[in-house]
Amino acid sequence: MELRDEAMVTRIEHDGSRASGVRWVDAAGDEHTEPADFVVIGAGAIESPRLVLLSDVDDSNGWIGAGTMFHWFTDGFGIWLSERIHAGRGRDSSHAIDDFCDPDFPGARDAAAAAGLPYIRGGIVEMGGTTHLMDEALQYVELMEIFDTDKPFGTRFKDLMRLSALRDRLTGSTMIAEDLGRRSNHVDLDPTVRDRYGLPVAAVTYAPHAHELAAQEFYTPHLVGLIEAAGADVAGATAQVGTPDKPAPTGNIVPGGKHLMGGLRMSSDPTQGATDPFGRLWALPNVGVADSSVFPTSGAHNPTLTIFTAALRNARAWAGIEGDPTLPATFTEGQGTGGDTGSDVPGAAIAAGVGAAALGGAAAVSWHRARRRGQASPDDSSH
Ligand SMILES: Cc1cc2nc3c(=O)[nH]c(=O)nc-3n(C[C@H](O)[C@H](O)[C@H](O)COP(=O)(O)OP(=O)(O)OC[C@H]3O[C@@H](n4cnc5c(N)ncnc54)[C@H](O)[C@@H]3O)c2cc1C
Repeated sequence: MELRDEAMVTRIEHDGSRASGVRWVDAAGDEHTEPADFVVIGAGAIESPRLVLLSDVDDSNGWIGAGTMFHWFTDGFGIWLSERIHAGRGRDSSHAIDDFCDPDFPGARDAAAAAGLPYIRGGIVEMGGTTHLMDEALQYVELMEIFDTDKPFGTRFKDLMRLSALRDRLTGSTMIAEDLGRRSNHVDLDPTVRDRYGLPVAAVTYAPHAHELAAQEFYTPHLVGLIEAAGADVAGATAQVGTPDKPAPTGNIVPGGKHLMGGLRMSSDPTQGATDPFGRLWALPNVGVADSSVFPTSGAHNPTLTIFTAALRNARAWAGIEGDPTLPATFTEGQGTGGDTGSDVPGAAIAAGVGAAALGGAAAVSWHRARRRGQASPDDSSH
């Protein structure tokens, strides 16, 4: 496999029914075309849909770019006046509970019914992160600079560190909750703003659904209660999802969470998603998507392991190792433009994006394993 850094893929080349490669720009701004039998996209849930939109792929069902999801976060905090909690001595935010993911959590069904919904789901709660030592020190220095410009250090600084209001007496517990996929939340091409290549940037349209607002209202007090029950003297939480009429305390409407999903969602029905159940574009079956844009739902847990799992599962199907034999074969001997494969996997897998580069590797690895077990290679695949 050859990895080309500083390469911006600007278009999937195709004839309307099959991709033939990608167009890309190098760091010097020179444009290239790379032929491929199979194209893998892994540019993330904003840029992958954007690339497909930039490529003028058939979108008669209107799902390319649709179904964008952000996990919505609720930040809880506890202040511990009567004891030091030493949160920094353990793992950071890796302790978690997932009770709030359960639609049958006590009271959740009633809250859903009151909001006219069949269920509500919160999300995983990462417990007890705190400020790190150096971060705490820097924050005190910044604070002291406001009123003590000449001497933002010394005894007063040491006293603050000993008191440790921002580290040893403060914990943060964050709920990372499910955002439902809605067709009206989507990525499309901005009509006016262009990137440095002159291409339209992605524009994101988002509004929370009744589910997110009801779940946030129900679970925020539970998050506070959990921190209080742990012994905090003061506990609170800041909700992040709002509407134009009722913005969140942070002023947000779009959740500030950094988990981006959807936009090329998988579906067994082409009228309900942009990609087939193995992440191939319905419009161009030799284009596979290997990132969170294939998620039809966001789930109530951090996404990265699911991205890996879905990419590996789908790569095995693309390589003809496992998958649904009723779906069109990805690799057919002699098909395509025959890029320089340089590997045992027939056909070049051109990857847009780092995640997809890993996936291209995953496809190759899976096939090597299959060969060791004496299974058919993708070339031999009869489906
Ligand atoms: C601050 C922060 C904290 C996070 N914490 C967690 C966490 O604790 N747990 C968790 O599970 N997830 C976490 N996430 C989310 C997680 O990082 C993402 O879900 C994950 O990185 C997505 O992986 P990806 O490979 O799909 O996309 P990305 O990691 O976004 O990779 C896409 C790549 O494609 C490249 N690219 C884009 N467009 C093109 C193009 N046209 N041509 C070529 N290359 C292109 C980009 O430069 C990028 O390198 C966090 C994210 C952030 C920002």
